[in-house]
Amino acid sequence: MNITFEERMRESTERPRVYFDHAATTSPRPEVIDAVVETLRDDFGNPSSFYLEGHRAAKLLADSRAKIAACLHVLPEEIFFTSCGTESDNWAIKGAAYARKSKGRHLITTAIEHHAVLHSMEALECEGFDVTYLDVDHRGLLDPEKVREAIRDDTILVSVMMANNEIGTVLPIKEIGTICREAGVLFHSDGVQALGAIPVYPKELNADLMSFSGHKLYAPKGIGLLYKKKGVRINSLIDGGAQEKKQRGGTENVAYAVALAKALEMSMADLEYESKRQTALRDRLIRGVIERIPHTKLNGHAIKRLPNNANFSFEFIEGESILLFLDKFGYACSSGSACTSASLDPSHVLLAIGLPAEIAHGSLRVTLGIDTTEEQIDRFLIDLPLVVERLRLMSPLFADYKRGKLQPLIPEEGSLDLKVEGNYGWPS
Ligand code: PLP
Repeated sequence: MNITFEERMRESTERPRVYFDHAATTSPRPEVIDAVVETLRDDFGNPSSFYLEGHRAAKLLADSRAKIAACLHVLPEEIFFTSCGTESDNWAIKGAAYARKSKGRHLITTAIEHHAVLHSMEALECEGFDVTYLDVDHRGLLDPEKVREAIRDDTILVSVMMANNEIGTVLPIKEIGTICREAGVLFHSDGVQALGAIPVYPKELNADLMSFSGHKLYAPKGIGLLYKKKGVRINSLIDGGAQEKKQRGGTENVAYAVALAKALEMSMADLEYESKRQTALRDRLIRGVIERIPHTKLNGHAIKRLPNNANFSFEFIEGESILLFLDKFGYACSSGSACTSASLDPSHVLLAIGLPAEIAHGSLRVTLGIDTTEEQIDRFLIDLPLVVERLRLMSPLFADYKRGKLQPLIPEEGSLDLKVEGNYGWPS
């Protein structure tokens, strides 16, 4: 087995690298890169200028907005370009809070949101707003009734993500949106991981505000979107010129708006095919990992999850060391620790779904994309068990377990769900 490990590691240098971190970012499609280059070269004008170059740029911007609106089944005037998903989340949450503070100062969100949402909420708390952080269940699902119960007379905004970026769970946004609408409370949803992966139609979801990001759907980094339902008023965060209907100052990034429209149109055209294809690859991966690696758990919901997301905990080892070894084997993946900070704290999402810290530490996120193949999955299913086995051989915890001094938290046969109620079943 040891020889096989060394051999596989050596061999990996001769094979093309495998990118399994599409939730972190994606590589722009060639057609998208061409659209950017063409726009930068041929249409560099400022859309606010009153001459031909400006008019051409303004038209490209308007066309891109219209294409994006058509993909989302909304009106072009409901689409606002931003710099990224983080800006869209900040704008939606702080902008709504500032615009509505005379009506109330209470906001509701969940414990598993992205830091763009959580830190916006924390910033508002410092300014005297009151925030309720709702708990999710052990698979990352939020019971919509909890939202209904949490709404108070002074509640001004509910923000619940459509799909979680770490564990991939898809939340019941439509039901939550309906509850908010009935209660007359604004509803924002972070749709950054959902757009391009599953159908996202803000009006059907009863969302008033939705955030999106270009680089998660094969467009470049540096462009995002905010959907704002017609008639919804939020404060601006970026003061300046009259761009984006006087609501977000700053000369528009026309080339990246064109890129995002192109990437979104292409994702929509492929959506059904890709979501089925990636779901099949994802389930092949999940089944293979649980069957081949003892004491392994799938994190997140087994079925209500993004087509491209698999997140595992391997008992007795650390996620960072798995990543380092996998990198040497030629794979780019992500761990369950706080990737955005230098600390090695386990992720707030894994802790919020009830994982003990020692299990959360041994977590690995594998996210697939349009370039993922069955051959890559099958190769990974050979390499990952070798990596986990090698790390367990080096682990004092595993040694204690082998000597009978430690009870495992995850059963040897593995688990799709630590709290299995009835026969939960394999994902189909
Ligand atoms: N929201 C979610 C759910 C995300 O996954 C991310 C990025 O990982 C963001 C927001 C932030 O998006 P951006 O990187 O475009 O700022």
